[in-house]
Amino acid sequence: MIDIQKIRADFPILNKKVNGKPLVYLDNAATSQKPQVVIDSIVNYYTTINSNIHRGVHTLSQKATDAYEQARIKLQQHFNAKKSYEIILTAGTTHSINIVATGFSSLLKKGDEIIVSAMEHHSNIVPWQMLCERTGAILKVIPMDEVGELLMNGYDALLSNKTKLVFVNHVSNALGTINPIEKIIEKAHKVGAAVLIDGAQSCPHIKPDLQKLNVDFYVASAHKLCGPTGVGILYGKEAWLNKLPPYQGGGEMIKQVTFEKTTYADLPHKFEAGTPNIAGVIAFGTAIDYMNEIGFDNIAAYENELLEYATKKLLSIEGLKIYGTSQHKTAVISFNIGEIHPYDIGSIIDKLGIAVRTGHHCAQPIMDFYNIPGTVRASFSFYNTFEEIDLLYNALIKAKTMLC
Ligand SMILES: *Cc1c(COP(=O)(O)O)cnc(C)c1O
Repeated sequence: MIDIQKIRADFPILNKKVNGKPLVYLDNAATSQKPQVVIDSIVNYYTTINSNIHRGVHTLSQKATDAYEQARIKLQQHFNAKKSYEIILTAGTTHSINIVATGFSSLLKKGDEIIVSAMEHHSNIVPWQMLCERTGAILKVIPMDEVGELLMNGYDALLSNKTKLVFVNHVSNALGTINPIEKIIEKAHKVGAAVLIDGAQSCPHIKPDLQKLNVDFYVASAHKLCGPTGVGILYGKEAWLNKLPPYQGGGEMIKQVTFEKTTYADLPHKFEAGTPNIAGVIAFGTAIDYMNEIGFDNIAAYENELLEYATKKLLSIEGLKIYGTSQHKTAVISFNIGEIHPYDIGSIIDKLGIAVRTGHHCAQPIMDFYNIPGTVRASFSFYNTFEEIDLLYNALIKAKTMLC
C-alpha cells in the first residue's frame, strides 16, 4: 500500500508553488522529482567524503571508492545482473546507447541488418542511423498500429539470419505502451541477433530481472527513478562487453600505457574513462533503496489506479483524444483536444501550476504515424494524487473554454 501523505512529505519540491499555485507535477516521463534522502546523499558526499575514486591510498579516496562500488552492487542486485562488472556506470541512457552503437561499428559489415521499433525515443534511433552510415548496415523498423502496439507479425517478417541487433524500448515514453520484450528477445535470439532494451521509461515502474530476460544489453537513466540527472547504467552480458571496443580513451580505462601500445583495463573500467559523477552514482544507489522500500509492486498498482481514474476523467472532456490506448501501458496519457495546439494547452495550464509536456516527446516518428504535430502528455508517478488529476481536469476545461 502507498501512504501518499508520507511519500509526498519525502519530496520537498512537491509543496512548492509555481506561478502562485501549488505545483502539480505531471511530467514524470521527462524526469522524476527527488526525495530528500537522495538530495541528502549528494550533499553528504560533498560534505564528508569527496575525493577521487580508484586512485588514492588515502582514507577519503577509499571511502569514496567504497561508496561508489557499493552503489554498483546495489544496481547489480536491483536489476539482477550476474556480475557487478556487467553494470557499467554511464552518464545516462543516451550515453549508454552510444557506447553500444559505436562499439558495433567494428562488428557489423555492409548489408547486415539491425531492427528498431516504430515507437522509439530519438536517442534509440539516431545513434543506430549513425552506425548504419559508418558500416553500410541497414535499419529496419517494426511497425505499430493505431492502438500504439507493435505488430509482432511485422517483426517476424523482418527477422532473418542477416539480423545482427534488435533494440526496442520496454515502455514508450510518448504513449506509455509496455512492449512484449520477452517475446522480442526470444525471437531475436532464434536468428542469432543480440538485443538491447531501452529501460529508461519502464524502470521507474517495473523492476526488470535481467538474467531471466536473458537480454544482451539494457540501458537506463537514474533521473527517471528519483535519482540525479547525468547518471545511468549500461548493462551488458560479460561476453558482449568483452567483445565491444572501449568508447572513450583516457584515465581509469587502461591497464598500461606506452606510446607504442596501450592495453585496456578489465570490466567495468574499460568503459569508464575519466572521473565519473561519483556523487550522482552514490545517490542513484540511494534512490534505488528508496524505491525498493516503497516497493515496485505497490508503485505499479497505485499508478495503475491513477491511470484508470485519469483516463476516465479526461475522456469525459468532449473532443479529447488519447494516443496510445493499449491495455498494457504505464501511467502516461498523451492527448489532444480537438484542433487546439498542444503548446497552447500546456502554456495555459502552466499558469495554473500544472506541469505537463507538450510536443513530440523526442519521438517524431510516432507523431508522423498519427499525423499530428505533437500531443499534451500527462505522466504520473507514485507521489501524484487523485486530487491532482481533478485539478488537471479543471485546468483543461478552462483552457478549452479560452481557446475554443
Ligand atoms: C528519457 C528517455 C531516454 C533518454 O534518456 P536520457 O536520460 O535523456 O539519456 C531514452 N529512451 C526513453 C524511452 C526515454 O524515456
